[in-house]
Amino acid sequence: MAKLKIENGKLVVPNNITIPYIAGDGVGAEISPVTQSIIDTAVKKCYAGERKIEWLEVLAGEKAFKQTGSWLPEETMRTFREYLIGIKGPLTTPVGGGIRSLNVALRQELDLYVCLRPVRWFKGVVSPIKEPHKVNMHIFRENTEDIYAGIEWQQGSPEAEKFLHFLQNEMKVSKIRFPQTSSFGVKPVSIEGSERLIRSAIQYAIEHKLPSVTLVHKGNIMKFTEGGFKLWGYAMAEREFGNQVFTMMQYERLKKSDGEPAAENALKKAIKEGKIIIKDVIADAFLQNTLLIPEEYSVIATLNLNGDYISDQLAAMVGGIGIAPGANINYITGHAIFEATHGTAPNIAGKNRVNPSSLLLSGVMMLEYLGWQEAAANIVNALEKTFQSHKATIDLARFMDDSKTLTTTEFRDEIIRNL
Ligand code: NAD
Repeated sequence: MAKLKIENGKLVVPNNITIPYIAGDGVGAEISPVTQSIIDTAVKKCYAGERKIEWLEVLAGEKAFKQTGSWLPEETMRTFREYLIGIKGPLTTPVGGGIRSLNVALRQELDLYVCLRPVRWFKGVVSPIKEPHKVNMHIFRENTEDIYAGIEWQQGSPEAEKFLHFLQNEMKVSKIRFPQTSSFGVKPVSIEGSERLIRSAIQYAIEHKLPSVTLVHKGNIMKFTEGGFKLWGYAMAEREFGNQVFTMMQYERLKKSDGEPAAENALKKAIKEGKIIIKDVIADAFLQNTLLIPEEYSVIATLNLNGDYISDQLAAMVGGIGIAPGANINYITGHAIFEATHGTAPNIAGKNRVNPSSLLLSGVMMLEYLGWQEAAANIVNALEKTFQSHKATIDLARFMDDSKTLTTTEFRDEIIRNL
């Protein structure tokens, strides 16, 4: 068995690969073995023994704490650093004791700057919207900056007072409505951070032959942070991707110099030539549009907080928390952790009724990342076939007509039959 490597910016994928995994707390103990057995069967079926995964368990969360006294052992971090990728179930967030969130610690340690959430609808799954087949988006959420950087001071603390003093006396800020009772947060958004996220989104659109990348922001209000994200993104796209893209900035420039018909013609020509259209939209309008005209959007690049809201709304539009996959990726170093997006679901843990699709589809993202497209497609087809025959775990089956509710292990067996 061998490790995944990155050479000259390209992944080198061995046929027999060792992949570290964190089983996860709560329902993690159920969804991790189910996911692995489906992936193993698909890989065996698609590559007739020429490719194989060896799963290497590493510890984190409650299980790690009980066995080692540490919530996130150094050995686990070393393994992820060394093997580049891994897959994880949900982890109990420790209450007190220094670590805010294990997921955040993992992301920061490996500088996983992209949180990628593909959102698509599976035939058979009941959705709250009328035309869920029109939803097919790939959200690139910036993972390391924004108000989520954790730079904030509580109201009444000496730090908040010091910061207020600095704002009022050094920066001559007079706009704070209730200065004495305010908490403060800082929102860092950089050129490098924005560019690397948007660059990854454009490269992804090119590789997957997707039509557009939309920069979602609140630049109308937060001009230098969110507005900067938009402007730096457009400039980088034109500078680095040249003829592969057509930006709405180019459109606006053409409109000004040659008139609207000329700009429209250039846009039509670019679409015909298969160029990626780079556009932008204000976040609130975007959230409305995802319900009204979801077909207008493909790859989405956005800041951390916007991305948090957008990911959950879009997931709800296609069937909710049990089937939304995710990954945290650094496309430069190759490091990536694929993960279930839901929590440990303590209310259903150990009852053989959890839906394993979120972790399974994260496993599909992992196979795609490795370039094992056949196995990935095989699993997606089997999942779709299962849902189309109205067979699902209780969380989805209860909304389907004439459904058959399966336990987690029955669901696994049904998917394996459909591979
Ligand atoms: P949760 O996602 O665990 O559960 C919310 C609800 O959704 C529950 O009713 C649960 O039964 C249901 N649910 C979740 N996943 C499901 C699935 N796959 N199939 C069927 N039903 C599912 O959120 P919570 O209850 O707020 O959090 C529980 C614990 O998980 C907390 O310790 C929290 O910190 C942690 N958490 C971890 C992660 C992570 O590791 N990525 C994410 C969120 C929460």
